[in-house]
Amino acid sequence: MTTAAALIVAAGRGQRFGSKLPKQYAELGGVPVLRHSLLTFLAHPQINRVGVVIHPDDRDLYDRAAEGLSLEQPVAGGDSRQASVRLGLESLAADPPDLVLIHDGARPFVSQIAIGRVLDALQRSPGAIAAQPVVDTLKRGQDGCVAGTQDRNGLWRAQTPQGFRYSEIAEAHRAAAHKNLTDDAAVAELAGLPVALVEGGQENMKVTTQEDLDGAERWLRGAVAFETRVGQGFDVHAFGPGDHVTLCGLRIDHDAALVGHSDADVGLHALTDAILGALGAGDIGSHFPPSDPQWKGTDSAVFITHARDMVSARGGRINHVDVTLICERPKIGPHRDAMVARLAELLQLSEDRISVKATTTEKLGYLGRGEGMAAQAMATLSLPLGR
Ligand code: MG
Repeated sequence: MTTAAALIVAAGRGQRFGSKLPKQYAELGGVPVLRHSLLTFLAHPQINRVGVVIHPDDRDLYDRAAEGLSLEQPVAGGDSRQASVRLGLESLAADPPDLVLIHDGARPFVSQIAIGRVLDALQRSPGAIAAQPVVDTLKRGQDGCVAGTQDRNGLWRAQTPQGFRYSEIAEAHRAAAHKNLTDDAAVAELAGLPVALVEGGQENMKVTTQEDLDGAERWLRGAVAFETRVGQGFDVHAFGPGDHVTLCGLRIDHDAALVGHSDADVGLHALTDAILGALGAGDIGSHFPPSDPQWKGTDSAVFITHARDMVSARGGRINHVDVTLICERPKIGPHRDAMVARLAELLQLSEDRISVKATTTEKLGYLGRGEGMAAQAMATLSLPLGR
């Protein structure tokens, strides 16, 4: 099977942004600009690994932007974009992927569709880049006046991701190390590699100035049509020895514990799956494999905030969630309000958009015999159309 890595370049200092905070770490829709594209690449089924090239001074900003995400160790960039990409590519050399997609961390709205188009084109071509055909009439200016009209026929604005066969682009970057080229397609062109053009989408903008950031925020807020999505989730965990359970993010004293690889919070697991289901983004196990020791004993808050961030990164919002906990014991009623409050905190949602209910199975079946607990959940989302 073909392996594909995404390399996100976020080492720039952003002089044009006019703020101390580099643009890729500015807040957009409540999360750093960089996090949007990280989530999109992580959620793509054909991308196996995602790594980021950062400026060494930005480690704290990076840690915040990447919190809870399953990424390669960040790589320190160089003193130009080209040097940063080369260092990022070298960091993959020990375990090289077949394909690599290089993406600007300041392009938050890259879509799954654009990533898929670049990957598809790489089946036929050594290189492929996202781009948009130029639709404006182009003027050449001189002393503030029009000196001529440029034929726009065949002209494209290059975007990212720019995808290549890993070994070829790594070699091309080594050979071009003394040049000063503005994108990776130019590096490939210099090496004589054909590069295909695929549509990247109008929304795949680069946040360079404060004005761009304001425009991106407006775009997120609803300059687009939304569709409603509903997802459902279900989860079961068995009881074992212990003195408490964790339900909907709340520790509750009990004469048994729920057994699981993480903290076995059935409520949060069902709800995370409901949100992922509405996104069409797989299930909790595909994002946090139980075979991966790093999730052992994990606070399930990590899972649900990941799903919440994926909704934000798609420019969407959670409208409402509804969780039903199914057990004979412990009694849920006394904890219900605290669970709603905790979910409100985790989802950054008002309490009137959250429901926690409980039921028993009238002592029937494995739940009735108290062998474990189950939960089912639904989530309603609004997502921008076409993303
Ligand atoms: Mg579970």
